[in-house]
Amino acid sequence: MDISKIVNQQNSFFNSNSTKEVTLRIETLKKLKHILKENENNLYTAIYDDFKKSAFETYIAELSLIYNELNDAIRNLKKWSKQKRVRTNLANFPAKSYIIPEPLGTVLVISAWNYPYQIALIPAISAIAAGNTVVIKPSEIPNNTSKVLAQLINANFNENHLTVIEGNVATTTELLQQKWDKIFFTGSTPVGKIIYKAAAENLTPVTLELGGKSPTFVLADCNIKITAKRIVWAKFLNAGQTCIAPDYLLVEKRIETKLLEALKKEIEDFYPHSKNINENYVQIVNERNFNRLAQLIPTNKIYHGGEVNPENRSIAPTLLRNIGFEDHIMQDEIFGPILPIIAFENLEDVIKKVKVKEKPLALYIYSKNKKIIQKILHEISFGGGAINESLVQISNPNLPFGGVGASGIGNYHSKAGFDTFTHYKSILHKTSWIEPNIKYTPFTKFKSAILKFLLE
Ligand code: NAD
Repeated sequence: MDISKIVNQQNSFFNSNSTKEVTLRIETLKKLKHILKENENNLYTAIYDDFKKSAFETYIAELSLIYNELNDAIRNLKKWSKQKRVRTNLANFPAKSYIIPEPLGTVLVISAWNYPYQIALIPAISAIAAGNTVVIKPSEIPNNTSKVLAQLINANFNENHLTVIEGNVATTTELLQQKWDKIFFTGSTPVGKIIYKAAAENLTPVTLELGGKSPTFVLADCNIKITAKRIVWAKFLNAGQTCIAPDYLLVEKRIETKLLEALKKEIEDFYPHSKNINENYVQIVNERNFNRLAQLIPTNKIYHGGEVNPENRSIAPTLLRNIGFEDHIMQDEIFGPILPIIAFENLEDVIKKVKVKEKPLALYIYSKNKKIIQKILHEISFGGGAINESLVQISNPNLPFGGVGASGIGNYHSKAGFDTFTHYKSILHKTSWIEPNIKYTPFTKFKSAILKFLLE
């Protein structure tokens, strides 16, 4: 595959101004929706082959989010693309001022493996909505989903507008040698740094959607049963291979035992057969990740679970207790079905410990105490989160999604996604029927007084 040829062709197509036509953008998005709908069964089969993931889970965690994003963009992109008039200040009178949203150009979307459809397609939808041309490079790890995405898109869209290039690190490295107008990357923090460096060569703007260890505070006044249910759902969905899954719990000491019992009960109810992969519980994506996770479990700290099966790459939902911030499992993002639980007595101390770590992608608080909720929200920097819930913030299109610090740069979803792929061009439009002459020489006291009046 000649990568530079594809990029050149996309640049030419962009420069033909075709993608600036809002009708083409809407048609393209409608076509994408139609193709996905028509091929849902192929999408379900491919993801089952890669993860043993059920159609139900694929629909709620992937396709429904993609359809929502498509519907939202189709409905609103005309409004989002309109030029907007803003006030002109007195010093510039007589003139009008406006802002023109313009697409950035040719965009590269590099995606991670864990939600292979939505992580590849949602940024691409925003980029198309904003009028760009797009190359998607899906993760090579789940190769059935990568293949089905490439087949569906490459057979149905103009390669100069939207295309998929499959490949591994070598392909991505070659893609990064091209000059892009924007790179949108989802993946790990170390690879994020590689992308950022490559982009800097051409001063290409980036959005980096990275990972991190997302803390979950559980305060003594929470509803323990509902808290346990929501945490178990959020942590073990996709076997914990979710960037915004609760990575670890910070639980007030006096409810620790009750919460552990409640978590265990929910796991037993949710996943009665989790030692075997089944329609409700997915497998670990590959051997490398399976081995990494299996070695992370400290056998002397298992409260529940801990069974691993290399034959089907399953790791049972696992609860760890008596964990401290210095434990091995607390050093890096877990990205699997292992939940360490740290019990604490002093909230101040625990907040301080979270603050010295890298800024997480998500944070969750289970409590009814408004003061404590406000305190945590005010003191800790993180990408986004939820109170008395986990994960579901991603499904509200009005909440921009993204990290901060080591968990990412920039955000997307709905209008925030449109903005991510748009340059807002500011124009001051002067008339020529009058020339006040104030800014020209000679610089007199009178002019200076008028300028001060206008500018201060
Ligand atoms: P990864 O960084 O290994 O890979 C992501 C992409 O980068 C893939 O397409 C891969 O082919 C490419 N890549 C890998 N190594 C590369 C290299 N050396 N040079 C150039 N390209 C390279 O990440 P992953 O394992 O696919 O995904 C897991 C990570 O992604 C976790 O840290 C998770 O938290 C994060 N993630 C973040 C979000 C988010 O929205 N913030 C969503 C999903 C996953």
